[in-house]
Amino acid sequence: MSKSENEILVSSRIIVEHPELPSDYYRLRDFEYVQPLYDLADLLELDALSKGVEVPKYRTFSLWRAGYSLDGYGTTIDRWLDGILEDEDLDNIPTRRIRQYLESVRTQGTITELQRYQDERFRRCLRLRSVRGLGPNKIATALLSESFDEDWCRQMAIETGVDQHRIANLYCGVNLGPWQSAHIVPPLLRFLRSVEFGISRSVGWSIAGIADPFEPIIAEVIVSANLPFDLMVSAVARTLRREVCFSLIGQTAGRIQIRHQLGWSFSFEDLETDNLGETLTALAARLDPLSRSLATLQGDLHSHTAWSDGSASVEKMAKAVVNSGLQYFAVTDHSRSSKVQGGLTPPLWLRQANALALAHPVCPILHGIEVDILKGGDLDLPHNLLAAADFVVASVHSNWTKSASQNTDRLIRAVESGCVDTIGHPSSVVVGKPGVPDYYRPAAEVHWDEVFEKCAQWRVALELNCFPSRLDLSLPLLQRAVAAGCSISMGSDAHARSHLINLRFGEAALSRLKPNLILNRLSHRELCEYVEDSRSLRRAVAKPKHILHIEQPTLQFDEERKGRVTIRAQISLPQHLPAGSRVIGIDLTAGNKTTGVALLDNSDVTTCSLSTDAEILEFIRIYEPSIVSIDSPLGLPGGGLSIDPRAGIVRVAENDLSSIGIPAYPALIDSMQNLTLRGIRLKTQIEAMASRPLVIESYPGAAQDILSIPRKQKGLDLLREGLRRLGLAGAGLDTSSHDEMDAITSAIVGRYFEAGLYEPMGIPSEAQLIVPKVSPLHFEKAPIICLAGKTGAGKSVVARYLSVFYGFGWIRTRDIIQELLFEDLEKPLDRRLSNWNVNPSAIAEEDLQAFGTLVLSEYRQGPLRSKLANVIRNHSGPLVVDAIRDVADVDPGLIADRPIFIWSVDCTDNLIYSRLVQRRKLGNKKYVQRSPVDKTADFLSKQSHNLISNRGSFEELRWGIDDALFSAITITRVV
Ligand SMILES: [Zn+2]
Ligand SMILES: [Zn+2]
Repeated sequence: MSKSENEILVSSRIIVEHPELPSDYYRLRDFEYVQPLYDLADLLELDALSKGVEVPKYRTFSLWRAGYSLDGYGTTIDRWLDGILEDEDLDNIPTRRIRQYLESVRTQGTITELQRYQDERFRRCLRLRSVRGLGPNKIATALLSESFDEDWCRQMAIETGVDQHRIANLYCGVNLGPWQSAHIVPPLLRFLRSVEFGISRSVGWSIAGIADPFEPIIAEVIVSANLPFDLMVSAVARTLRREVCFSLIGQTAGRIQIRHQLGWSFSFEDLETDNLGETLTALAARLDPLSRSLATLQGDLHSHTAWSDGSASVEKMAKAVVNSGLQYFAVTDHSRSSKVQGGLTPPLWLRQANALALAHPVCPILHGIEVDILKGGDLDLPHNLLAAADFVVASVHSNWTKSASQNTDRLIRAVESGCVDTIGHPSSVVVGKPGVPDYYRPAAEVHWDEVFEKCAQWRVALELNCFPSRLDLSLPLLQRAVAAGCSISMGSDAHARSHLINLRFGEAALSRLKPNLILNRLSHRELCEYVEDSRSLRRAVAKPKHILHIEQPTLQFDEERKGRVTIRAQISLPQHLPAGSRVIGIDLTAGNKTTGVALLDNSDVTTCSLSTDAEILEFIRIYEPSIVSIDSPLGLPGGGLSIDPRAGIVRVAENDLSSIGIPAYPALIDSMQNLTLRGIRLKTQIEAMASRPLVIESYPGAAQDILSIPRKQKGLDLLREGLRRLGLAGAGLDTSSHDEMDAITSAIVGRYFEAGLYEPMGIPSEAQLIVPKVSPLHFEKAPIICLAGKTGAGKSVVARYLSVFYGFGWIRTRDIIQELLFEDLEKPLDRRLSNWNVNPSAIAEEDLQAFGTLVLSEYRQGPLRSKLANVIRNHSGPLVVDAIRDVADVDPGLIADRPIFIWSVDCTDNLIYSRLVQRRKLGNKKYVQRSPVDKTADFLSKQSHNLISNRGSFEELRWGIDDALFSAITITRVV
């Protein structure tokens, strides 16, 4: 250990060993409040499944979501119900119905709907939830038997790989668990305090069965006291009337058995003891780290926000971090493979970086990532992107194998990537998951000492994940890691503000060790320096490794080895809404619902709700906007003036949007028909107004996704915060109407349109949908990416994605050929490239193709090359050229100092054909047409810098684009 690290340890504050308990310690815990919500959600589902009727999905989802978003180890809900906490202290404010449920839990320990499910068969199903691998469908079949069904247990043991005895025990309700002490200690101590309250004096208590707050509890908990047992019996009876989460299981001479709502139980026993026992305060100090306050930590190094599956915004998390006594924290949202968790893709992470710069948080934030360690040990995001993150937590979230050596290799590969600052929840052990308090997932089999050695060598820390259900690494493994010379990082893994208290678990655990270095004890500045030092040390370790391990082609520093072109980029400075003229946004509805309308004037918004077309037109007449942006399709599939059943219900616009990952409703789906027709009608009327406003079509959901403003479904508060971040102000932002909020977003699209920062989706004949485009990167030298590939391979999807999410200008060579042809037809015959007689106002697609072929074969692309060079020279930003036919199309000599990349988009002919058929572009026509592009595509693919595969889903295509882009870019942070 270096001298400075010693000093840090000395300078850190010392844990207070016997604190007074916080005043709210004996309140009902959040996890006790939410358990009945989970139970009801599961029982509604199981009941429906066993009867073969439709699951009430909306109800079960809203119950589950309420439970999940309020779950935790603290006392937030209880204090909120008491009015001590405000609505804004909660990440998700419960609906009125959920509030009623919570109040019912407080007074009765349960909710009335659960009384229907008192039957042992239903209780059995709830217990079976804790078997890993048993989903609702399988559990529902256990509802069918009246009594113990051995065959069922045997079958499920085979299907899940879980021990048959455990399944049978859960079936019958014996030997449940294991449990985490965090779920037991605070409620148990509350019960004991209630006993003391009933007899008006302090008691010395002894508790057997809970040895350590860091060990899962498997044995039965037995409580004894220096109290005559008959007095105990009557005090417990009185307590049971007050403590509604507990119920009596049985009582015999010398023994009272009690069950908690979560399923764990404990007994009072009449034990003769000389030991006088401990006070409740001493017990809490010994058994419950949550009873302490944070003392030695300066920061949290693992947390999630609403950008992925967390529920609070970065700003709110920052405030909570400061309130809990910390100086800084790392935002480490999930990466793209964690799809259910809403993991971030590269452009989203860049937008997050940009948004953080706008957020003015109350404490320093490390902008990090929790990147998935994939099956083979690769990391889930490009290394050049990870290099730009302030702190990289790398975690395994799925697919551990039974083979310890495979698991070990997987972790070591991640360590040796050189991109990782710490390994998150390294063993993946879980005791208790949301809604299932005795769920158990054992730790993965890993040769830990090999991993620790590599971590020490590469200066990669190991995490102590402080979630009580994880506490991962375990204390014994932490001890070994410390002995191997590893440093430790601690993370609350908070998914809500109320989870920050989890850090107390980690802190208490570390007071048992003599760790080398706890990263969280460093100040923000010291930590940044430490990360920087470690990364340069890793580069030094990495060099000789390559000579030994050349067969590992995906390791970082590839770029140096290959000597490839790399360009430098900076994450763009904060981007506000472009300035411009007055815009009205309309979130149009069909039917009786009112329409949300927003007026955007400079950066000021006002909103209102209007009903009739006449009211809307009058509003526009009064405010005379230059642009009206309507959230409704403004054209029909097929492009006609009336609905053409043969054209289907989807426009090209919706297809274009979904190709870049934004799902949209088909324009003529049943529920949209009237809306679409109303939109078209309004557009005509607005355009006929004296002030001649421009009418555009917008879709708030798409704009919100692209601008990374949370959609309203994530919470109106988050959406409002996102809009404020863009620089918006005014009374309109305070509206509680979802439609008016969307109208504001529609208005914003008008501004992006006016500023030229947009991309149209679809084709003009069907009306185009305007989406904003963003530029999360500022390139030192703006690159030119030239696409090659066959017709239909997906080049335009690539170009569209680069345009919308990275701000690339999209140059279509088809347009350039068309211009060339126009110009050609105007020249005197002796100076023309072609000698055809084509009517310039009626140029057909075939003419363009033929002319393109001529330019290629007769003139070796000369005219195209110089025209393209002209176009490129007029664009200072990054460009995508869609598409080239020859490497000579883009002449570096004509384009000063701009890096050029050729990307070949690869797809098989069969796939191209079947996709075209799917999109009903071909009808019954056979796919025979081959354009000149196709002939050179194969040749170009060999010359290209990157091969972008479009043989899988569009999502895989987008990931491939991101990977290709970041293989050539190194990013520096905004300073
Ligand atoms: Zn994780
Ligand atoms: Zn996490």
